[in-house]
Amino acid sequence: MSTPAPTSSTTPAEKTASKPAREKALPQNTPVVIDTRINAFYYGSFRALRDVNLPIRERQITAFIGPSGCGKSTTLRCYNRLNEVGTPTKVDGQILLQGRNIYDANVDLVKLRRHVGMVFQQPNPFHMSIFDNIAFGLNLNNIVGDRKQIVEEALRGAALWDEVKDKLHQPGTSLSGGQQQRLCIARAIALKPQVLLMDEPCSALDPIATLKVEDLMHELKKQFTIVIVTHNMSQAGRVSDYTAFFYVEMVSGGRTGYLVEFGETREILHNPKNELTQNYLQGKFG
Ligand code: ADP
Repeated sequence: MSTPAPTSSTTPAEKTASKPAREKALPQNTPVVIDTRINAFYYGSFRALRDVNLPIRERQITAFIGPSGCGKSTTLRCYNRLNEVGTPTKVDGQILLQGRNIYDANVDLVKLRRHVGMVFQQPNPFHMSIFDNIAFGLNLNNIVGDRKQIVEEALRGAALWDEVKDKLHQPGTSLSGGQQQRLCIARAIALKPQVLLMDEPCSALDPIATLKVEDLMHELKKQFTIVIVTHNMSQAGRVSDYTAFFYVEMVSGGRTGYLVEFGETREILHNPKNELTQNYLQGKFG
Protein backbone atom coordinates (compact mmCIF):
# COMPACT_ATOMS: atom_id res chain seq x y z
CA MET A 1 0.00 0.00 0.00
CA SER A 2 1.63 3.28 -1.00
CA THR A 3 1.63 6.30 1.26
CA PRO A 4 0.77 9.63 -0.34
CA ALA A 5 3.45 12.29 -0.18
CA PRO A 6 2.80 14.73 2.66
CA THR A 7 1.46 18.08 1.57
CA SER A 8 1.64 21.42 3.29
CA SER A 9 -1.91 20.82 4.53
CA THR A 10 -1.00 17.54 6.22
CA THR A 11 -2.16 17.68 9.82
CA PRO A 12 -0.18 16.30 12.77
CA ALA A 13 -2.77 13.58 13.15
CA GLU A 14 -2.39 12.65 9.51
CA LYS A 15 1.34 12.45 9.98
CA THR A 16 1.08 10.17 12.99
CA ALA A 17 -2.08 8.23 12.20
CA SER A 18 -1.67 5.08 10.17
CA LYS A 19 -3.54 5.08 6.94
CA PRO A 20 -6.93 3.48 7.19
CA ALA A 21 -6.82 -0.21 6.37
CA ARG A 22 -8.58 0.35 3.07
CA GLU A 23 -8.08 2.88 0.31
CA LYS A 24 -11.26 2.38 -1.67
CA ALA A 25 -14.64 3.70 -0.65
CA LEU A 26 -16.66 1.17 1.30
CA PRO A 27 -19.48 -0.63 -0.45
CA GLN A 28 -22.80 1.17 -0.14
CA ASN A 29 -25.89 -0.56 1.19
CA THR A 30 -24.14 -2.65 3.83
CA PRO A 31 -27.00 -3.64 6.15
CA VAL A 32 -27.45 -1.60 9.31
CA VAL A 33 -27.38 -3.76 12.45
CA ILE A 34 -27.90 -0.93 14.94
CA ASP A 35 -29.68 2.29 14.10
CA THR A 36 -28.73 4.80 16.80
CA ARG A 37 -31.33 7.52 17.36
CA ILE A 38 -30.45 9.10 20.69
CA ASN A 39 -32.00 12.54 21.17
CA ALA A 40 -30.70 12.71 24.74
CA PHE A 41 -29.34 10.43 27.43
CA TYR A 42 -29.40 11.26 31.17
CA TYR A 43 -27.63 9.91 34.25
CA GLY A 44 -30.15 11.05 36.86
CA SER A 45 -30.82 14.67 35.91
CA PHE A 46 -27.44 15.08 34.18
CA ARG A 47 -27.74 15.15 30.39
CA ALA A 48 -24.61 13.28 29.30
CA LEU A 49 -25.48 13.02 25.60
CA ARG A 50 -27.51 14.74 22.91
CA ASP A 51 -28.11 14.13 19.22
CA VAL A 52 -26.30 10.89 18.49
CA ASN A 53 -27.66 9.51 15.24
CA LEU A 54 -25.56 6.96 13.38
CA PRO A 55 -25.74 3.51 11.84
CA ILE A 56 -23.62 0.56 12.91
CA ARG A 57 -23.08 -1.51 9.79
CA GLU A 58 -22.84 -5.27 9.52
CA ARG A 59 -19.36 -6.82 9.64
CA GLN A 60 -17.74 -3.43 9.70
CA ILE A 61 -15.69 -1.86 12.46
CA THR A 62 -16.97 1.47 13.71
CA ALA A 63 -14.69 3.58 15.92
CA PHE A 64 -15.82 6.24 18.41
CA ILE A 65 -13.21 8.94 18.94
CA GLY A 66 -13.14 12.28 20.73
CA PRO A 67 -11.83 13.88 23.92
CA SER A 68 -12.35 12.40 27.34
CA GLY A 69 -15.86 12.81 28.73
CA CYS A 70 -17.61 13.40 25.39
CA GLY A 71 -19.86 10.37 25.76
CA LYS A 72 -18.15 7.69 23.68
CA SER A 73 -18.43 4.99 26.35
CA THR A 74 -21.91 6.13 27.32
CA THR A 75 -23.06 5.70 23.72
CA LEU A 76 -21.35 2.30 23.52
CA ARG A 77 -22.99 1.18 26.76
CA CYS A 78 -26.40 2.29 25.45
CA TYR A 79 -26.11 -0.57 22.94
CA ASN A 80 -26.32 -3.22 25.66
CA ARG A 81 -28.04 -1.02 28.27
CA LEU A 82 -25.11 -1.34 30.62
CA ASN A 83 -25.31 2.31 31.67
CA GLU A 84 -28.36 1.64 33.75
CA VAL A 85 -26.68 -0.94 36.00
CA GLY A 86 -26.61 0.74 39.43
CA THR A 87 -27.46 4.22 38.07
CA PRO A 88 -30.85 5.76 37.30
CA THR A 89 -30.79 6.66 33.61
CA LYS A 90 -33.20 7.91 30.97
CA VAL A 91 -33.06 7.74 27.20
CA ASP A 92 -34.98 10.06 24.91
CA GLY A 93 -34.89 8.29 21.57
CA GLN A 94 -34.48 4.77 20.28
CA ILE A 95 -31.80 2.25 19.52
CA LEU A 96 -32.96 -0.22 16.93
CA LEU A 97 -31.13 -3.56 16.94
CA GLN A 98 -32.14 -5.37 13.76
CA GLY A 99 -35.13 -3.02 13.63
CA ARG A 100 -36.28 -3.59 17.23
CA ASN A 101 -36.00 -0.88 19.89
CA ILE A 102 -33.83 -2.24 22.70
CA TYR A 103 -35.35 0.33 25.06
CA ASP A 104 -38.81 -1.20 24.77
CA ALA A 105 -40.22 -2.15 28.17
CA ASN A 106 -40.33 -5.89 27.52
CA VAL A 107 -36.73 -6.34 26.36
CA ASP A 108 -34.92 -9.22 28.10
CA LEU A 109 -31.60 -7.73 29.21
CA VAL A 110 -29.82 -11.08 29.55
CA LYS A 111 -30.70 -11.90 25.96
CA LEU A 112 -29.79 -8.40 24.81
CA ARG A 113 -26.33 -8.69 26.39
CA ARG A 114 -25.87 -12.06 24.80
CA HIS A 115 -26.57 -10.54 21.38
CA VAL A 116 -24.50 -7.44 22.12
CA GLY A 117 -21.29 -8.66 23.75
CA MET A 118 -18.74 -6.46 25.45
CA VAL A 119 -15.00 -6.36 26.04
CA PHE A 120 -13.77 -3.86 28.62
CA GLN A 121 -10.70 -1.66 28.95
CA GLN A 122 -9.23 -3.76 31.73
CA PRO A 123 -9.14 -7.50 30.96
CA ASN A 124 -11.57 -9.06 33.45
CA PRO A 125 -11.39 -12.86 33.31
CA PHE A 126 -13.49 -14.60 35.96
CA HIS A 127 -11.65 -16.28 38.82
CA MET A 128 -12.00 -19.70 37.26
CA SER A 129 -10.18 -21.82 34.70
CA ILE A 130 -9.57 -20.74 31.12
CA PHE A 131 -12.08 -23.37 29.99
CA ASP A 132 -14.72 -22.34 32.53
CA ASN A 133 -14.33 -18.67 31.67
CA ILE A 134 -15.99 -19.54 28.37
CA ALA A 135 -18.24 -22.40 29.50
CA PHE A 136 -19.76 -20.18 32.22
CA GLY A 137 -21.38 -17.84 29.70
CA LEU A 138 -22.65 -20.78 27.66
CA ASN A 139 -24.33 -22.25 30.75
CA LEU A 140 -25.73 -18.87 31.82
CA ASN A 141 -27.30 -18.41 28.42
CA ASN A 142 -28.52 -22.02 28.15
CA ILE A 143 -26.53 -22.59 25.00
CA VAL A 144 -26.65 -26.23 23.97
CA GLY A 145 -23.86 -28.08 22.20
CA ASP A 146 -20.55 -29.74 22.85
CA ARG A 147 -18.80 -27.56 25.44
CA LYS A 148 -15.29 -28.68 24.44
CA GLN A 149 -15.95 -27.90 20.80
CA ILE A 150 -17.49 -24.49 21.45
CA VAL A 151 -14.69 -23.52 23.85
CA GLU A 152 -12.04 -24.57 21.32
CA GLU A 153 -13.78 -22.66 18.51
CA ALA A 154 -14.00 -19.53 20.64
CA LEU A 155 -10.35 -19.73 21.66
CA ARG A 156 -9.32 -20.31 18.05
CA GLY A 157 -11.52 -17.37 17.01
CA ALA A 158 -9.69 -15.19 19.53
CA ALA A 159 -6.28 -16.39 18.28
CA LEU A 160 -5.54 -17.90 21.71
CA TRP A 161 -6.00 -21.65 21.25
CA ASP A 162 -2.38 -22.48 20.41
CA GLU A 163 -1.16 -20.62 23.48
CA VAL A 164 -3.55 -22.24 25.98
CA LYS A 165 -4.63 -25.61 24.59
CA ASP A 166 -2.35 -27.49 27.02
CA LYS A 167 -3.44 -25.55 30.10
CA LEU A 168 -7.18 -25.11 29.78
CA HIS A 169 -7.69 -25.87 33.46
CA GLN A 170 -5.30 -23.26 34.75
CA PRO A 171 -6.81 -20.01 36.04
CA GLY A 172 -7.66 -17.40 33.41
CA THR A 173 -5.94 -14.87 35.63
CA SER A 174 -2.60 -16.72 35.22
CA LEU A 175 -2.36 -15.51 31.60
CA SER A 176 -0.52 -12.36 30.48
CA GLY A 177 -2.56 -9.15 30.09
CA GLY A 178 -2.83 -9.52 26.32
CA GLN A 179 -3.84 -13.18 26.61
CA GLN A 180 -6.41 -12.27 29.27
CA GLN A 181 -7.91 -9.73 26.91
CA ARG A 182 -8.09 -12.32 24.12
CA LEU A 183 -9.71 -14.72 26.63
CA CYS A 184 -12.35 -12.05 27.30
CA ILE A 185 -12.84 -11.72 23.54
CA ALA A 186 -13.18 -15.53 23.29
CA ARG A 187 -15.75 -15.44 26.11
CA ALA A 188 -17.76 -12.82 24.24
CA ILE A 189 -17.62 -14.45 20.79
CA ALA A 190 -18.52 -17.91 22.18
CA LEU A 191 -22.05 -16.51 22.46
CA LYS A 192 -22.01 -15.54 18.77
CA PRO A 193 -23.12 -11.96 19.39
CA GLN A 194 -24.68 -9.85 16.65
CA VAL A 195 -22.48 -6.97 17.79
CA LEU A 196 -19.23 -6.90 19.75
CA LEU A 197 -18.55 -3.75 21.76
CA MET A 198 -14.96 -2.95 22.70
CA ASP A 199 -14.33 -0.14 25.16
CA GLU A 200 -10.68 0.91 24.77
CA PRO A 201 -9.71 -2.77 24.62
CA CYS A 202 -5.99 -2.08 24.19
CA SER A 203 -5.39 0.78 26.57
CA ALA A 204 -4.10 -1.55 29.31
CA LEU A 205 -1.93 -3.54 26.88
CA ASP A 206 1.67 -3.20 25.68
CA PRO A 207 2.31 -2.40 21.99
CA ILE A 208 2.83 -6.05 20.95
CA ALA A 209 -0.34 -7.23 22.69
CA THR A 210 -2.15 -4.24 21.16
CA LEU A 211 -1.11 -5.25 17.64
CA LYS A 212 -2.29 -8.81 18.28
CA VAL A 213 -5.72 -7.55 19.31
CA GLU A 214 -5.85 -5.21 16.30
CA ASP A 215 -4.91 -8.07 13.93
CA LEU A 216 -7.55 -10.18 15.63
CA MET A 217 -10.16 -7.48 15.02
CA HIS A 218 -9.53 -7.71 11.29
CA GLU A 219 -10.23 -11.46 11.49
CA LEU A 220 -13.24 -11.03 13.76
CA LYS A 221 -14.98 -8.62 11.42
CA LYS A 222 -15.37 -11.41 8.89
CA GLN A 223 -18.00 -12.77 11.29
CA PHE A 224 -18.91 -9.98 13.69
CA THR A 225 -20.01 -6.38 13.70
CA ILE A 226 -17.69 -4.40 15.97
CA VAL A 227 -17.87 -1.02 17.69
CA ILE A 228 -14.71 0.23 19.38
CA VAL A 229 -14.09 3.21 21.63
CA THR A 230 -10.52 4.40 21.28
CA HIS A 231 -8.66 7.49 22.41
CA ASN A 232 -6.01 6.58 19.86
CA MET A 233 -6.63 8.04 16.42
CA SER A 234 -3.91 5.90 14.88
CA GLN A 235 -5.74 2.84 16.12
CA ALA A 236 -9.01 4.12 14.65
CA GLY A 237 -7.15 4.52 11.36
CA ARG A 238 -5.64 1.05 11.51
CA VAL A 239 -8.71 -0.91 12.45
CA SER A 240 -11.92 0.86 11.58
CA ASP A 241 -14.08 1.29 8.50
CA TYR A 242 -16.30 4.01 9.94
CA THR A 243 -15.53 6.66 12.54
CA ALA A 244 -17.77 8.79 14.72
CA PHE A 245 -16.20 11.92 16.20
CA PHE A 246 -17.77 13.13 19.45
CA TYR A 247 -17.24 16.40 21.25
CA VAL A 248 -18.53 17.96 24.44
CA GLU A 249 -20.12 21.34 25.14
CA MET A 250 -20.85 23.23 28.34
CA VAL A 251 -24.56 23.87 28.71
CA SER A 252 -26.00 25.48 31.83
CA GLY A 253 -23.03 24.39 33.89
CA GLY A 254 -23.13 20.77 32.65
CA ARG A 255 -21.04 18.97 30.05
CA THR A 256 -23.02 17.31 27.30
CA GLY A 257 -21.42 15.09 24.68
CA TYR A 258 -22.69 14.96 21.13
CA LEU A 259 -21.86 13.48 17.75
CA VAL A 260 -20.08 16.00 15.55
CA GLU A 261 -19.33 13.96 12.46
CA PHE A 262 -19.70 10.41 11.24
CA GLY A 263 -18.46 8.77 8.07
CA GLU A 264 -15.92 6.48 6.50
CA THR A 265 -12.75 6.48 8.55
CA ARG A 266 -10.53 7.63 5.69
CA GLU A 267 -12.81 10.63 5.16
CA ILE A 268 -13.09 11.54 8.85
CA LEU A 269 -9.36 11.22 9.56
CA HIS A 270 -8.02 12.65 6.32
CA ASN A 271 -10.73 14.92 4.99
CA PRO A 272 -13.04 15.93 7.84
CA LYS A 273 -15.86 18.29 6.93
CA ASN A 274 -16.47 19.81 10.36
CA GLU A 275 -14.12 22.44 11.75
CA LEU A 276 -14.25 20.87 15.22
CA THR A 277 -13.09 17.55 13.81
CA GLN A 278 -10.33 19.32 11.87
CA ASN A 279 -9.15 21.14 14.98
CA TYR A 280 -9.21 17.99 17.08
CA LEU A 281 -7.21 16.05 14.51
CA GLN A 282 -4.73 18.91 14.33
CA GLY A 283 -4.30 18.68 18.08
CA LYS A 284 -5.66 22.19 18.59
CA PHE A 285 -7.61 20.96 21.60
CA GLY A 286 -8.02 17.69 23.45
P1 ADP B 1 -15.93 9.18 27.26
O1 ADP B 1 -16.10 7.72 27.04
O2 ADP B 1 -16.03 9.97 26.00
O3 ADP B 1 -14.68 9.52 28.03
P2 ADP B 1 -18.15 8.87 29.09
O4 ADP B 1 -19.24 8.32 28.26
O5 ADP B 1 -17.39 7.92 29.96
O6 ADP B 1 -17.15 9.69 28.16
O7 ADP B 1 -18.72 10.00 30.04
C1 ADP B 1 -19.58 11.04 29.54
C2 ADP B 1 -20.07 11.83 30.73
O8 ADP B 1 -20.93 11.02 31.53
C3 ADP B 1 -18.95 12.29 31.65
O9 ADP B 1 -19.28 13.58 32.15
C4 ADP B 1 -18.97 11.27 32.78
O10 ADP B 1 -18.50 11.81 33.99
C5 ADP B 1 -20.46 10.94 32.87
N1 ADP B 1 -20.72 9.57 33.36
C6 ADP B 1 -20.22 8.44 32.85
N2 ADP B 1 -20.71 7.37 33.53
C7 ADP B 1 -21.53 7.87 34.50
C8 ADP B 1 -22.33 7.28 35.53
N3 ADP B 1 -22.39 5.95 35.70
N4 ADP B 1 -23.04 8.11 36.33
C9 ADP B 1 -23.00 9.45 36.17
N5 ADP B 1 -22.26 10.07 35.20
C10 ADP B 1 -21.54 9.29 34.39
